[in-house]
Amino acid sequence: MDTKLLEQDLLELSRTVSSYPAIDNHAHAFLKIENRDAMPFEGLISEATGPALTEDAIHTLACYRATAQLAKLFGLGRDATWEDVKRRRRELEYDQLCRLCMEPTRIQCILIDDGLWIPDMVNDYSWHDRYTGSPTKRIVRIEVVAQDILKDLIDAQVAGTTLTPVSIWQSFEAKLTAQLKSSAADPEVVGFKSVACYRTGLDISVNQDFANLEVGVVQLALRYETTRTMRLSEKAVNDYVVTAALRIAGECGKPVQFHTGLGDNDITLSKSTPALMQPVIKAFPNTKFVLLHSSYPFTQEAGYLAAVYRNVFLDFGEIFPFLSADGQRDVVKQVLELCPTNKIMWSTDGHFWPESYYLGTIQARQVLYEVLEASMRRGELTLTQATSIVKSAFFDTANKVYNLGLLPRTV
Ligand SMILES: [Zn+2]
Repeated sequence: MDTKLLEQDLLELSRTVSSYPAIDNHAHAFLKIENRDAMPFEGLISEATGPALTEDAIHTLACYRATAQLAKLFGLGRDATWEDVKRRRRELEYDQLCRLCMEPTRIQCILIDDGLWIPDMVNDYSWHDRYTGSPTKRIVRIEVVAQDILKDLIDAQVAGTTLTPVSIWQSFEAKLTAQLKSSAADPEVVGFKSVACYRTGLDISVNQDFANLEVGVVQLALRYETTRTMRLSEKAVNDYVVTAALRIAGECGKPVQFHTGLGDNDITLSKSTPALMQPVIKAFPNTKFVLLHSSYPFTQEAGYLAAVYRNVFLDFGEIFPFLSADGQRDVVKQVLELCPTNKIMWSTDGHFWPESYYLGTIQARQVLYEVLEASMRRGELTLTQATSIVKSAFFDTANKVYNLGLLPRTV
């Protein structure tokens, strides 16, 4: 191809990648103004905790790049340090900081998983509408629904109602089904999410044994009575909850997101590969599965599943800004190796701080451009094909998979 024509095409692609409206298909809420500095800001670039976060994560390439990009956004000099960035953000008025970060993202719609463990510290999902063109929608975290139901049942027992393991299980099962059905029918809820990966692993069993379920529920009840915290982590029960959600979601046409791969030290890494999900994917062919977090470092396995199962979609989020730029390019290339380009969706996994949405967007746009540009230079992609990949990844696929019915607001 003529060099001049190629350069014109690349300029055109660059314009589309940097400006096309986006649907952020997986994100969490901003901290409330009064809690804006309540969490260590290093959580922006790593899911490590304790000193691994505050003393080690700041020495990653991801942190160096985030520092430079945020320093530029905040009008600081090229030599600004991570501490300078933190200081500057504290000086900015909160709404000003949020707008500064959100305006360049061109995020039109956010799908918020509002089942975080600190619901009182963050804003309600609809609060985020002020920064987007289309209303924010909810993703319901199924383990949280199950935990709340069990807690209420056991609390009721403490208050004097006699419950046997069988009756706890029967009430739990009925209430869970009712609640999942009501969420599935709620137009504000566009999908479900499971954190099975964090709890009992992705080797989700499709065959449930009633005796194991009863034992599991009793274990959860006993643990709750001693610790007063309810954490759904009994494999039989967790697997039951996931398959109940998969069935109901499939009947109602709502997708189920799965945390896969990349996360904190709570996950068992070897149980977080989506390859373990093959039996459950096969068992629910009418339910749409969305594999979150690029399934890093199991991206190729996720791409394989999305390529061979009609009902599997791949999200390429969380790697922005957690990986180095080189790492991000490698992952995006792996996503595109085998996975059909109409099954890829982007997200920020934005959480707590508006900067996570900012970095999650500008880095993704930059990296997607670089990968597609290289393919176009080698003559492997036309401008039309590359443009269609960008539009699908940032908007069209999520719009379709979550039945959002949105029109891209291009300026
Ligand atoms: Zn997430």
